[in-house]
Amino acid sequence: MLEIKGIAASAGVAIASAFRLEHPDYTIQRESVNDPQEELKRLDAALAKAQQELKAIKQRTEEQLGAKKAEIFESHLLILSDPELLDAVRDRIASEKVTAQYALDEASKQFISMFENMKSAYLRERAADMRDVTKRVLIHLLGLNYVNPADISEEVIVIAEDLTPSDTAQLNRQYVKGFTTNVGGRTSHSAIMARSLEIPAVVGTKEVMAQIQNGDTVIVDGLDGKVIVNPSAEVLEQYKQRRDQYLRQLEEWKKLKEVPTQSKDGIHVELAANIGTPNDVTGVLENGGEAVGLYRTEFLYMGRSELPSEDVQFNAYKTVLERMEGKPVVVRTLDIGGDKELPYLDLPKEMNPFLGFRAVRLCLERQDIFRTQLRALLRASIYGNLKIMFPMIATLDEFRQAKALLLEEKQKLVAEGVEISESIELGIMVEIPSTAVLADQFAREVDFFSIGTNDLIQYTMAADRMNERVAYLYQPYNPAILRLVKMVIDAAHREGRWVGMCGEMAGDATAIPLLLGLGLDEFSMSATSILPARSQIARLSKAEMEQLAAQAIGMQTAEQVVELVRDIGE
Ligand code: PEP
Ligand code: MG
Repeated sequence: MLEIKGIAASAGVAIASAFRLEHPDYTIQRESVNDPQEELKRLDAALAKAQQELKAIKQRTEEQLGAKKAEIFESHLLILSDPELLDAVRDRIASEKVTAQYALDEASKQFISMFENMKSAYLRERAADMRDVTKRVLIHLLGLNYVNPADISEEVIVIAEDLTPSDTAQLNRQYVKGFTTNVGGRTSHSAIMARSLEIPAVVGTKEVMAQIQNGDTVIVDGLDGKVIVNPSAEVLEQYKQRRDQYLRQLEEWKKLKEVPTQSKDGIHVELAANIGTPNDVTGVLENGGEAVGLYRTEFLYMGRSELPSEDVQFNAYKTVLERMEGKPVVVRTLDIGGDKELPYLDLPKEMNPFLGFRAVRLCLERQDIFRTQLRALLRASIYGNLKIMFPMIATLDEFRQAKALLLEEKQKLVAEGVEISESIELGIMVEIPSTAVLADQFAREVDFFSIGTNDLIQYTMAADRMNERVAYLYQPYNPAILRLVKMVIDAAHREGRWVGMCGEMAGDATAIPLLLGLGLDEFSMSATSILPARSQIARLSKAEMEQLAAQAIGMQTAEQVVELVRDIGE
């Protein structure tokens, strides 16, 4: 038995056998061969193996998830036997005397680029299918030992060096019971997605890849941030009980779904959810969210090979607004950069991507991208209660420029006769220290603030939110951070503005009493944190928390603040 410590990234306890997720190296050099016949045989053998695999996956998917979900594998099977593709590969092997893998790779690249340039969205999506199928055959031709994460069909714990947000999005909740990674922090975007998928996760362990082999029994304790490998019978039993206890607790919390959020002394605060896609609204409603406090629109731009069109965006925003039925929806404009890359924009690699050309900085330069998004948002505004906010605002001038572009697009749309809501509130993320310090000036010009502590903490403490080696400096309870939060809230309230928080701190049980005391109006968090937060707030008196927060502000260290909060028994 071995216990590995890490960062608790998504709550819950998962027990299953280990599945190591390693991305193989697919780079293929041009190599000549003497015997093309031999290559043709290798190609046929690899195609046959891939076909066998796909048939098995298709059948399993049909049985477990239904025929509709299995259709994708039918299209993959068709690609595998597509004469146009296979003839092109065989011709190349025979005429150029190259390896089967090189011939396949080259031929499929041509088809992929052809699909990617098609007008129809349906055909463009075929490029992704072609890529998947090619990889599947290449794995056999290259003799790689690799299983595609989307093929996982038994209950596992995924073990990885790191997971990109798109890896995480592909994980099938039914089979992937939990995951643990070597790198990453609580606010890395794969951790944030794990919370919305409700998969227990422990990140930043540094050593799971070195210590865990495929098939080991693994416990992911996403409550305490621990990973246990090959537990003794006794420990396994303890954790099974813990898991069941947590599931019972979840059932208890579910009873608060329709109950309004109120402190013990009757003060209402709004509990909102952070979402990444329109599908996430289901989780918001199931968990009794009163609003969407942050819609991270960048996920709409990821996992595709070109910018989403105005209509694609319009449909996504409209769906979210309609499904929220008039409850507030704060949509954040594109915040690409940092750990969220957009390969098709082809931006140069930067030394410090978190301090670089990202978010509103990029939008103000690439106005084509920004204006398209603003138009889509304005057009969607009549379908619900839309609020727009700009990310990474560092200066008043940036806000004014972004606002001017919004107004320009609005005027154009009005001139075109398009109906637009007249009550769209316009706000900013406060996630850069300069903006927090100057909040009194900003408060005169914006309708609301949303404090993005994920970045505000990293920039204030100069500690990369993704780097587990400096995770000790990532201190939400540091009095320096609490003072900044207080400055922002006080400045907004003096101008009659409301203040939300959409960083992960808003859903943190130790921070909630302090934030309530500091006067935060809206708490926006992972949907799964809403009900525990509602239950906690009902047990807290706002008047008492004001005193607690005042004490915390005067303390010296984060540890002292944690002690102080612990003493109130929450
Ligand atoms: C933040 O920085 O706190 C935030 C909510 O935005 P993101 O995590 O997407 O950077
Ligand atoms: Mg941010």
